[in-house]
Formats: sequence, C-alpha cells, structure tokens
Amino acid sequence: LEANKAAWQKLSNNGSALDAVEAGVRVTESDADNRSVGLGGLPDRDGNVTLDACIMNHESECGAVAYLQDIENPISVARKVMEDTPHVILAGDGALQFALDKGFQKENLLTEKSKAEYVEWLKTAEYKPKVNVELHDTIGMLAIDQNGDISGGCSTSGLGYKMQGRVRDSPIIGAGLFVDNEVGAATATGMGELVLTTLGSFLTVEFMRQGMSPLEACKAAVMRTIEKNKDSYKEMQVGYVALDKYGRYGGYSIQPGFQYTVTYQNHNKVYDAQSYLS
Ligand code: ASP
Repeated sequence: LEANKAAWQKLSNNGSALDAVEAGVRVTESDADNRSVGLGGLPDRDGNVTLDACIMNHESECGAVAYLQDIENPISVARKVMEDTPHVILAGDGALQFALDKGFQKENLLTEKSKAEYVEWLKTAEYKPKVNVELHDTIGMLAIDQNGDISGGCSTSGLGYKMQGRVRDSPIIGAGLFVDNEVGAATATGMGELVLTTLGSFLTVEFMRQGMSPLEACKAAVMRTIEKNKDSYKEMQVGYVALDKYGRYGGYSIQPGFQYTVTYQNHNKVYDAQSYLS
C-alpha cells in the first residue's frame, strides 16, 4: 500500500510510469521491517544480504543488478544501468562499484532484527523455503501513465538462507518482469527457480498479446509452470500480476496467500489473487 501510494503520487502529478515504479519500489526497499526486499532482507546462509532488481520502460529499455550488496535501493541502480551504460545487467562487485561511482552510499543492510533471525536459523541451519512471505517475497510493480506508457520494476533480497551466489528470476528480464508497451506488462514472485523454467513474465505478456485478459494470462502462465514442474509445484509458490494496455489487471498464483495492490484515483486496495490450489 505504501509503495503504491508513492508511485501514485508521481503518476497523479503527471510523472512517468518509469518514475512511478522507481519511487514505489524504493519505499519497500527502504522498509527495514520487510524481510525480503532491500534493507532488512534476510541474508544468505553465510550472512550476506544480496539483492536483485530490474526495471523496464515503454521503449523496451531495461536495466538490472544481480548479487548487489550494501546498497539500499537496487532499483535505482538498475535504472542507472539502463540509462547510463550500454549493458542490461551488472552483477556483484561490478554492480557495487558502478553504484558507488554513481554516488550511491554503502551501508550495512543486515539489521539487528534480521541478524537475530539469522543467528537463530544457524542453530538448525535447515534450508526449507516456506510458501509465502515468511522466507521470501518480492516487490514487483507495474504502472501505466497518462500517455498510456507502461513501465515495471522488480526488487528482492530473494530466498532467505539461499546458497551464496544464488541469482534468481527477479533481475532477469522476461522472468521476474517484462514490459511490452503494445500489449502490457507482468511481474513475478515466488520460487525464482520455477519462474525461470518458463520465463513466466514474458510468457504472461505473450498470452495477453494473443488476446487473453491479464487474469487469464497470469493463470495460463501459472498452469505452464505447474505442467513443467509436476513434482515440485505443490510445495512451492509462484504468482504473477499483469496489467494490460487498457489498464485492466489481474493476478494468479499456485498457492493461496498471494496478494497484490491496485491503485488509481481515490483507490488503493489490496486484493487476494485467485489460486490453483486452495
Ligand atoms: N522470486 C524471488 C526469488 O526466487 C523471491 C520471491 O519472490 O519470493 O528469489
């Protein structure tokens, strides 16, 4: 809700969809109480908080960072990659160096609370991702502005206690996020390993191109994930939200519990997505 409020502030002042998604995603990244995005995100099993983010605009320009450490707002670094480099993805030390060169400040993202949870986890060190927000979650945001132009952003600290070096769907254009201004946009949350098996956000947009509504497209993409992961999907969550060129939206997930927020004039409301399992 708070992220969408910040994004809406931009849109309602004639801001671009790109400015809106960046502003919105930054709110969640800077929220220390959120355990799965930016500051306060749970670390990997060696104690490192590593962040992934990507951004894409209506001209199909995109930028991303992967395995970025010590920078609170990776979405803004991703935007700089898009705007100021000839590349799409920067990772690890290179991404950090780039961020520092661009004036971002280095800071410790492992808050006392996250550290305490990590120290507790170390007692068993059992790696068992839970289905919804407890150990992972992502902010994915899609916006359409007054010109009818669409942009999207996606940011996560990923699974808590993952292996060091893991990079997931969220910084991969087509997997964690995809925008095609002629059609619409989609973004993903849940087990990144599954999202990657179908390039789910790209797939959702392609389904909309074929004439499906955003809800139908999200559902079809989830069904594809299920078909391709018959042995594992019951234990895992994957959810998509989509927005089309006409401002229609929808969300669908494997498991119940996936929520998304929709904001427009005088409206900022959380919805429960429909799900395959009940
Ligand atoms: N997709 C993210 C990942 O796999 C996490 C999530 O959205 O739950 O790291």
